[in-house]
Amino acid sequence: MSISIRAIRGFRDIGPDEAYRHRFIEDQARDHFSLYGYREVRLPILEPTELFARGIGEGTDIVEKEMYTFQDRNGTSLTLRPEGTASAMRAYLEGGWSAQGGIAKIFYHGPMFRYERPQKGRYRQFYQIGLEAIGGAGPLVDAEVITLLSRFFNKMGVDDVRILVNSLGCPSCRPVYRQALVDFLEGVEEDLCSNCVRRITVNPLRVLDCKVPSCREAMDGAPGMLSFLCADCREHFSKVQEVLEAAGVVSTVDPGIVRGLDYYSRTAFEAVCDRLGAQSAVAAGGRYDFLAAEMGGDAPGIGFALGVERLAMLMDWESRPSPSLDFFVAAATPASRTPVLRLAERLRAASKAVGIDLEEKSLKAQMRQAGKTGAARVIILGDDEMRSGTLQIRDFTTGNQETVTEKEFFRSFCGEPSPTKGES
Ligand code: ATP
Ligand code: MG
Repeated sequence: MSISIRAIRGFRDIGPDEAYRHRFIEDQARDHFSLYGYREVRLPILEPTELFARGIGEGTDIVEKEMYTFQDRNGTSLTLRPEGTASAMRAYLEGGWSAQGGIAKIFYHGPMFRYERPQKGRYRQFYQIGLEAIGGAGPLVDAEVITLLSRFFNKMGVDDVRILVNSLGCPSCRPVYRQALVDFLEGVEEDLCSNCVRRITVNPLRVLDCKVPSCREAMDGAPGMLSFLCADCREHFSKVQEVLEAAGVVSTVDPGIVRGLDYYSRTAFEAVCDRLGAQSAVAAGGRYDFLAAEMGGDAPGIGFALGVERLAMLMDWESRPSPSLDFFVAAATPASRTPVLRLAERLRAASKAVGIDLEEKSLKAQMRQAGKTGAARVIILGDDEMRSGTLQIRDFTTGNQETVTEKEFFRSFCGEPSPTKGES
């Protein structure tokens, strides 16, 4: 059909099978995160543009070219959220979650929006599950967050995700490193892509993250942050690694993990899987002890965001098919249509998923429809069955067809109690 209105580029419709997968991942995440004491929050999809401009930082890809920004009817500049951390911190500072004392442990899920070049695993509207621990600065928090993430992949049956960790230092040691990196970059400037040449002044750490092959080559021999860490940062990072090891979480130190966002400090990490190809990151996160200051507050924090579409691509769905109907109830004769409705409602009251024909089709057509719905069994109700209080049950997987009394049927399929003495 040639229709005249189509979805916006990079914005996808998520059909029933994929929605089931997203839902499954979200439900599992909710269960898993709650084992560590995290609680779900829901945050706005629209925020003042300034929140991201400050909270994510000028010079990042997101702020420079990926945001969906527009003015509302009052002329206020709003942005569709490209990520959740800035909002979570804003909510923490604004909503007084800090007043509850201790570390605020929260998570959220929902759509994020970035104006990117759409390709496999990269969309303009995509879904993230984000988790944040705000109010704790110690390395044990980092280790718990990374452990939780790593275990989540195991729980989802994805065992080939690798956890890469790095430290980005703090305001006392990063500037020294930054200068050493800038000196190095200026020496190799003619080998860098035009984007990276610009990054030397705006956000030099981002050059480490550039995917352009010639930039990667030029970066061979570049100084790494780790050898510039101050004593406190060094101690923090080794404690994180020590606790991860004690927890049995395998991680690899990768100096190339820099994150695009300026507010990150100390621990940064990524979960990658080779099966994803170029878009290899399935989750990424880190510590953001200097994000709150951008909003006039003061609170350390650490968190991650996981890409739901990318995790769904990695999971084995064959063994977790989306559920279909338990029964299809077919009417063999016009007189059995009303009894079919009644039977279907009784089954639904017993929490069975039931389909019936709503178009008054022939029995043959109903059987065809039943097959298409994927129902495990068809129940056929005709004049004979109504007279004798029986049902015909056809099992689609075995092909067997049997006649049972209605009572027997409800007992064996709906767990209704066996008749006690004196009944029937
Ligand atoms: P990438 O390097 O793939 O652009 P990123 O560093 O921009 O990722 P983050 O901002 O850290 O990504 O987001 C965390 C996760 O969200 C990513 O690891 C990925 O799984 C997912 N993600 C990010 N951008 C997209 C997108 N445009 N489409 C689908 N998933 C995405
Ligand atoms: Mg990106």
